[in-house]
Amino acid sequence: MPLPREIRGVRRRGKYIVFALDQGFLVFHLRMTGQLVLEGSPAEGARAVFALDEGFLSFVDRRRLATAEYSRELRLELGPEPRGDLSWLPWALKGSRRPIKLWLMDQKNIAGIGNIYAAEILFSAGIDPRRPANSLRSNEVRRLMEAIPAVLEAAIAHRGTTFSDYRDASGSPGGFQELLRVYQRAGELCPRCGTPIERIELGGRGTYFCPRCQK
Ligand SMILES: [Zn+2]
Repeated sequence: MPLPREIRGVRRRGKYIVFALDQGFLVFHLRMTGQLVLEGSPAEGARAVFALDEGFLSFVDRRRLATAEYSRELRLELGPEPRGDLSWLPWALKGSRRPIKLWLMDQKNIAGIGNIYAAEILFSAGIDPRRPANSLRSNEVRRLMEAIPAVLEAAIAHRGTTFSDYRDASGSPGGFQELLRVYQRAGELCPRCGTPIERIELGGRGTYFCPRCQK
């Protein structure tokens, strides 16, 4: 990437943070542990540091799971945003027999839903995460269409979920982990019916649900 570059805009798309430059794009995917830190000096142990007109933007990632890529053109294979119009959802679900949780986490179907929020969305909608996507009845799809934006709006209002490294852009941890109802709560009692929350593996990921509320 030839330097210096001008930052024309910053936006989020799905799980990506995209810096539109005067030439090309700088695309970050922070995953579980990445951070972008804006400070007066470069952050210690940063994987990359961008000198700005004022201050420094440091890309920090203790566990090296996050990515930063420069590309001339923006090519992200992502489905629609989950907080916009979801009227396409019933039709899209009919085309897949995959378990609904894996369908929701496939970024090509719908952008931005990860393991934590998929679990919370399905609890909120009362749907078993193993159900084939095309088996959902219309009332269940309707509950899903309400739960997707509701859970994400609540998480955003609490500035995200912090288990270890996640910090928001101002360096503060999120607060939504206090409000999680099933994720990482195996053995604890369902807040709705009192049945112990179960944990299974689905697509190689820990999956939490209430066996009674989620049919
Ligand atoms: Zn329950």
